[in-house]
Amino acid sequence: CGIVGYVGPNDTVEALITGLRRLEYRGYDSAGIAVIDEGGEIAVRKRSGKLARLEELLEVNPVQAAGTGIGHTRWATHGGPTDANAHPHLGDGGKLALIHNGIVENFAELRSELEADGLELISETDTEVVAALVGREVARHGDLETAFRTVVARLSGTFTLLAMHRDEPGKVVAARHHSPLVVGIGEGENFLGSDVAAFVSSTRRAVAVDEDNIAIITPEEVRITDFAGNPVEFSEYEVQWDA
Ligand code: GLU
Repeated sequence: CGIVGYVGPNDTVEALITGLRRLEYRGYDSAGIAVIDEGGEIAVRKRSGKLARLEELLEVNPVQAAGTGIGHTRWATHGGPTDANAHPHLGDGGKLALIHNGIVENFAELRSELEADGLELISETDTEVVAALVGREVARHGDLETAFRTVVARLSGTFTLLAMHRDEPGKVVAARHHSPLVVGIGEGENFLGSDVAAFVSSTRRAVAVDEDNIAIITPEEVRITDFAGNPVEFSEYEVQWDA
């Protein structure tokens, strides 16, 4: 329901939690984050309930993030509001993390395809199917952006999706289809959000991502393409916001 992505040198967990806090007005039943930790692995902390419960978890089980992360507040549509169903979901044996707003309508057939391929899913969500598919694609072809594009083109329904992979630290990829996505442009850091509220405490420079486009952010660069990978031109605007 709320989505944040961060790449840059600053406190990643704080950037994610601050963004999620600002998005709280949307309502949600679970919250979670994934970061690349100091050892270069994906670390996930997620919990059903309020953001405060996730913050409690981060206090007892902290994570040292190394500058790449995604955060999510969930409004459950497929599978109840449990810890296991909370986002992020993992793919590629835990090397990939993914979050999702919306509904993947064709998830049942995609799930059968994965199960026929011997992949085990641990949640009841439509989202984990997407994480597993992108993960399988990365494992086959070794490139997050191509894998993400290939899978996104197969989905029907509504989605804002964000994904990151431990083999490509400093990068978050995102796609939208009938669900909102904005990029926030900082100094040596960049953001993604389902709403400018996700990053407005750090930057007022924003780019609205158009329908059926993919955004790729690194600390130094923002790129946007269509689902076929063709570059798309974009311009930024200044967010008007009364704090
Ligand atoms: N359909 C997904 C789920 O139930 C995402 C829901 C959302 O938009 O938060 O987990």
